Amino acid sequence: MAQPTMPIADQAGEEMQTVPEPSPTELASSPEATALRAEILDVGRKLWERSYVDGNGGNISVRLGSQYVLCTPTLISKRDMEPADICLANLQGEIVAGNRPRTSELLLHLEIYKANPRARAVVHCHPSYATAYAVTGSAPPTGYVTEFELFIGPVAVAPYETPGTQVFAESVLPFVEDHNTILLTNHGIVCWSDTVTHAEWLVEIMDTYCKTVLLAQQTGCPLLRIPEHKIEEILAIKRRMGLPDARMARLQKSSAETPVDAGELDRLVEQVVARLEGRD
Ligand SMILES: [Zn+2]
Repeated sequence: MAQPTMPIADQAGEEMQTVPEPSPTELASSPEATALRAEILDVGRKLWERSYVDGNGGNISVRLGSQYVLCTPTLISKRDMEPADICLANLQGEIVAGNRPRTSELLLHLEIYKANPRARAVVHCHPSYATAYAVTGSAPPTGYVTEFELFIGPVAVAPYETPGTQVFAESVLPFVEDHNTILLTNHGIVCWSDTVTHAEWLVEIMDTYCKTVLLAQQTGCPLLRIPEHKIEEILAIKRRMGLPDARMARLQKSSAETPVDAGELDRLVEQVVARLEGRD
């Protein structure tokens, strides 16, 4: 997941022509929009089935073209959405196609898209274990589960602001470059990735990790940390895969002193990518 996209070369080797972007109406009815609506509906049902959303809570969006996003409407259960419910909004938050009012929390999504071009899809919801940490205003400790370290790592905690306001939307801005998963104090979480499906995977990984740490702490036994030099390997893999991590700056400093074995790193990356693609 979240592998960097590769530029596709022009097959004929000819100069790329500038094609005018379709109108909002054309975009809203394009095959790409149809596929993205289906993906949003699938992810909405997954969020509801896993109890990550309650009532009309949670919202999902994805970029479409350079100037628009498809997003979930306000006041709807994420279990019950239909394709016509998904709105097309511009980056100012105005609906340009669709009959339902957008979610007020679209402002949060738009700030993330504008601040970080790598964010192509955003999922916000209220999963119980992650939100339990959000209620304490603290992030779960890092260093205990490989999957979490690889895909998420240190989680940021945005200060509390009233949901739906511009101040709330901007509360994540200091964190959105280095963190794909951000806890919203007294509220829930928001995750960004390259696709809607991958953003939902981050929610699953985050909530499962929070649950695991809370359970492990209840055993009364000491928790075993992943050795620091193995964390360095995970960080090197994350860099190769284009995944963000606030610890990268530290790795840059230490790897300048102790270079990572490039051959060994290539083998590790290949193993991880093979697993993600279901090849092992
Ligand atoms: Zn919310």
